[in-house]
Amino acid sequence: MIRHLGLKAYGKINLGLDVLRKRDDGYHEVRMIMQTVGLYDKIDIYLKETPGIEVVTNLYYLPVNENNLVYKAAKLLMDEFHVPHGIRIHLKKFIPVSAGMAGGSSDAAAVLFGVNKMFQLGLTREELMNRGVKIGADVPYCIMRGTALSEGIGEILTPLTDMPQCQVLIAKPSVSVSTKFVYDHLNLEGLKKEDHPDIDGMIEAIKSHDIYKVSERLGNVLETVTIPEYPVIADIKEKLKELGAVNSLMSGSGPTVFGIFTNPIAAGRAYEELRYGECRNLAKQVYLTNFYNTKEVPNG
Ligand code: ATP
Repeated sequence: MIRHLGLKAYGKINLGLDVLRKRDDGYHEVRMIMQTVGLYDKIDIYLKETPGIEVVTNLYYLPVNENNLVYKAAKLLMDEFHVPHGIRIHLKKFIPVSAGMAGGSSDAAAVLFGVNKMFQLGLTREELMNRGVKIGADVPYCIMRGTALSEGIGEILTPLTDMPQCQVLIAKPSVSVSTKFVYDHLNLEGLKKEDHPDIDGMIEAIKSHDIYKVSERLGNVLETVTIPEYPVIADIKEKLKELGAVNSLMSGSGPTVFGIFTNPIAAGRAYEELRYGECRNLAKQVYLTNFYNTKEVPNG
């Protein structure tokens, strides 16, 4: 029996995010272009002889009970398959929390994968994705990964061509944003046409493998809610472009901003500037990473 598994749970950014309508059940119907990035949380799963799920994490403010998505993911599979053992999950967070990068969903996806492997449950990737959506709308995507169109409430996924390699600078200001707040305050009727991103145009740009066309079409309708609330997001977007990003955008419901760089030297300089330079107060967390295209299983 496997006694220990080390996993990597990768974060995502949205190259495009559009909201089509609010459904009667309260969920919003979306069209999003998802992209995995190289920034990841580390998860270790250890087998325990005694039953139960124990969670240990480096962030004191995260729950370690059933409110943590890693706990929920483990419990879902271990209950269904009546696993007689227990596990201890060590979660080391690097992906910014409440930031629009699906960190919690990605952790859950990695744990579904890990528990399936540790106890040889024999579930396929698709079967894991069907269970993942019960934990969160983004979990199926976090199991699939890579570049994808996400529709419905996030559970209808179409893989897209891999993105060309380039540098992605991620900057999260000190504010945290609740996804619920942003969706609750989205005024779909009051939006102008140009507030909606051109998702079909983005899909064509991705197919043509042209990073400049992709960058031109970056767009996120949720910026109409989050930026007026936190203008620092607009400041970071501007700063990234000033420092050489081809373009920049807020990811998910925010407040994380990313900039796409085709010049590694400019990307390195921009990182230094945001981390240590005069504008170091704009963002609390800054990471220089890239698009993570591999769809291999997350057992790094
Ligand atoms: P999304 O991009 O899907 O909107 P997010 O980046 O806004 O996600 P997360 O960091 O995934 O948000 O989750 C934030 C909330 O979920 C916090 O309230 C946090 O307490 C709770 N949470 C539960 N489990 C986790 C986890 N493993 N990692 C991060 N947050 C978690």
